[in-house]
Amino acid sequence: MQRIAVAGIQHETNTFSSMPTTMAHFIEADAWPGLTQGEAVLAAVAGANLPLAGAIAALEAAHLQALPLLWASANPSGRVEDVAFEALWTMFESALLKAGPLDGVYLDLHGALVTECYDDGDGEWLRRTRALLGDQIPIVASLDFHANVSPLMVNSASALVGYRSYPHVDMAQTGARAIALLQGLLSGELLHSAFIQLPFLISMPWQCSLIEPVAKLMRAAEQAESGDVVSVSFFPGFPLADVADGGPSLLAYAQSARLAEATVQSLAQKVLAAEPEFAGRLWLVDEALSYARQYAGEGKTIILADTCDNAGGGAGSDAAGMISDGLKMGMPAMVVGILCDPSTAQAAHAAGVGGVLSREIGQGRKAKGQWRVISLGSGQFAATGPFYAGCQMDLGPMACLQYQGLTVLVSSRKQQAADQAMFRHLGIEPSKVEVLALKSSVHFRADFGAIAAEILVVEADGDHVADLSRLQYRVCKRRPASRGT
Ligand SMILES: [Zn+2]
Repeated sequence: MQRIAVAGIQHETNTFSSMPTTMAHFIEADAWPGLTQGEAVLAAVAGANLPLAGAIAALEAAHLQALPLLWASANPSGRVEDVAFEALWTMFESALLKAGPLDGVYLDLHGALVTECYDDGDGEWLRRTRALLGDQIPIVASLDFHANVSPLMVNSASALVGYRSYPHVDMAQTGARAIALLQGLLSGELLHSAFIQLPFLISMPWQCSLIEPVAKLMRAAEQAESGDVVSVSFFPGFPLADVADGGPSLLAYAQSARLAEATVQSLAQKVLAAEPEFAGRLWLVDEALSYARQYAGEGKTIILADTCDNAGGGAGSDAAGMISDGLKMGMPAMVVGILCDPSTAQAAHAAGVGGVLSREIGQGRKAKGQWRVISLGSGQFAATGPFYAGCQMDLGPMACLQYQGLTVLVSSRKQQAADQAMFRHLGIEPSKVEVLALKSSVHFRADFGAIAAEILVVEADGDHVADLSRLQYRVCKRRPASRGT
């Protein structure tokens, strides 16, 4: 039986965030498992919508032996500390060297990991892995939809493949697609790659694959995979990274270099032609709240996507400005989640259900009030939506607080509000809420989309900036996508 070493190292780094990512962030569990080594990785990821889980299942189905080395992920945040990156590399390297003879390696990488000293952390990881193993052993990796793919990554790996969906409901499936590529390489297939970086940055809310233009571009990439074209990926990229390789790219593998090149060139024309379509309305908070007010008493749900404070893109999910404005405007029937505020969660647990906390909650423009504790939770529960499918959440102590017309769900660890179980854990049924403010950009649509009569993308406070023209790029030479004239 052929022996395949497998590992997952996942981080999306927002270089505009001043919150460093430390080893402690990789060690703790959140929506995804905490740091896990060796055989325990199999149980930690089994059944989850994670590339590594899909890859392991595909290896089993193909009668290939999976040798699990490491799982390490941390919520998106600022640059990964060098000491954490090197500690993770040492764990991986020593496990790889101890694994015995190998026929191949599969890596579940994000593709937008940035450390204090490496702007292309994934490229460095792949470079070192290739240097250890030599040129003969195939190394394949799956990458996130938001990967900032670099020439170093492409040249170091035998093959790379990206998710097709945002919300990422196909993560496990992408792991399986990577294993299909690996099987071809193991059987002696020779793949030629072609890679193009595109000249503009795409803001996160307009990268959603449920809407145009990404829906049609992803369909085109998928349809281009036929005959001798073995794999085609369109990576919209992660624009909140000021790195040389930040931005969208196209990558194809085919039986001939000419065919691979023709495939990416043809898709590049389609992406370039779609540039003015990567846009939509960003609502100011007061405009959005005034508009949403009409939903009170209507029995329908409007969702306000608080995109800038999305923990899933490196923000703190602790900004309270929208809550303060909601109080000021006397918003009725509004629920906000998930606000990361560990000290408030702790105070709520000390006060107990029915207790009243006279305090300011959140950060930035803090929300002052007499907050009544409606319910409490351990923060440990199973996700039920398609994006976090199969995941066991561990968000630390949680609380549901109410003051005037506002209900706020508070957690001790930040996590993107992308699963209805996060609300039900504290007794809130999202479909019964008339104005629902979610700290998420796009992933919420997988589980909440069906209950929303309307969705507004709101520009409030936070490091997950939606209007890219507000950012000062120093290293990245690409410009924000233009709507044209
Ligand atoms: Zn992503």
